[in-house]
Amino acid sequence: MDFQVSLPLDSDGFLRRECPHCMQEFKWHHGPANEEAETANEPAAYTCPLCGQPAGSDSWFTQAQLDFIEQASGPMLAQVVDDELDRMFRGISSKHIKVKQTGRLDVPPQPDPMTEPDDMVIVASPCHAYEPVKVPEGHAGALYCLVCGAAFAT
Ligand SMILES: [Zn+2]
Ligand SMILES: [Zn+2]
Repeated sequence: MDFQVSLPLDSDGFLRRECPHCMQEFKWHHGPANEEAETANEPAAYTCPLCGQPAGSDSWFTQAQLDFIEQASGPMLAQVVDDELDRMFRGISSKHIKVKQTGRLDVPPQPDPMTEPDDMVIVASPCHAYEPVKVPEGHAGALYCLVCGAAFAT
C-alpha cells in the first residue's frame, strides 16, 4: 500500500521546516536548485541555519505538517479498506447468492490542503550556495550552512 501526502511549497519552491532543537521555523529549497545541487550527495544530516544543530533529514517536519499528514493518511487508509470490502462483496455475488452490502465505513473527509505563505528571506551560505534556505525576516546574528554547518554572517 502506498499513498502520498503532499506538503505545499511556496512560490519559490521552498518547504517550511521546524528545527527539532530550537523549534524555530525556516525553509529549505525542495529538490535540487540547480545542476550542482543535483550532482551533490544528499548529506546524512542537515544543520539548522538558525541554531547550528544537526538532525537527520526526516526530523524537520513542523507540527502543522505532522498534524496534516496524520489527518490526511486516516481517510486514505479508510478508503483503501472500503475499496477492499467492495471487491470482496463483488467477488462472492453470483446469480444464486444475493449479497447486499449494508452500511459503508465512514470515510472521514480529507483535510483542507495546506497553504504556504511567501514569507521569510532567501539566504545562501558562501560554502554551499547551491542549497539556499529561507530564514525569518529580521533574524540577527550568525547563520549556519544547511549542508555542512559552517557559520556565516549575512
Ligand atoms: Zn535550530
Ligand atoms: Zn556549507
